[in-house]
Amino acid sequence: MMKIVRHIYPVFDQLVSRDSKEWLLQQRARVIWFTGLSGSGKTTIARDVEKVLYEMGHMTMLLDGDNVRAGINNNLGFSPDDRCENIRRIAEAAKLFLDCGIITLCCFVSPTEELRQLAAEIIGPKDFIEVYVNTSIEECERRDVKGLYAKARKGEIPDFTGISAPFEPPANPAFEIKTEGRSEEECVQELLKFLVPLLQHEGVL
Ligand code: ADP
Repeated sequence: MMKIVRHIYPVFDQLVSRDSKEWLLQQRARVIWFTGLSGSGKTTIARDVEKVLYEMGHMTMLLDGDNVRAGINNNLGFSPDDRCENIRRIAEAAKLFLDCGIITLCCFVSPTEELRQLAAEIIGPKDFIEVYVNTSIEECERRDVKGLYAKARKGEIPDFTGISAPFEPPANPAFEIKTEGRSEEECVQELLKFLVPLLQHEGVL
């Protein structure tokens, strides 16, 4: 029979709260929302950050186009309505992870202030940490990691952010990373210095 370890874990009358889950995981959950052009470095940086956080003993979840558009949002395209619904669902999913005490890294172009505002409202401004990965369109196009810029230039991708659809830089991000001429390692270390103190649990409930 399963042993109940009530003497270690606090017991709650009703639902097990987010606070209790954060206590269990010994971390404070936040949503780290990476915004920036395609190819700016969001996923690269977030993956490295996640690896370091894991090594520090933190529980994380990374949401990006690869795992979200392939599954939960596989019925959505890139029209303004679909972009909005895409972000709404991502933010709702991130909030569920947050309520589970999990540090959630979200990597989405989220090109307009309106979309990022929507995400911040759903998640709650206190838990929403906006990180602007600031790489110029010229550099992103030069990198062209997925060949998308070349396609967009040929007119094969309509409404491609930075080419035929706007990107509004965040007015007041919590943190900004400039990647040009800098190593991934440098960018990751800089971000970690900012993030890690925000994720520390005080150790008591
Ligand atoms: P995004 O997720 O923003 O679309 P990716 O992370 O998929 O972008 O791609 C960014 C590309 O830029 C990668 O090929 C990465 O190796 C490269 N890159 C070069 N310098 C940096 C840097 N300082 N930080 C992050 N990525 C960098």
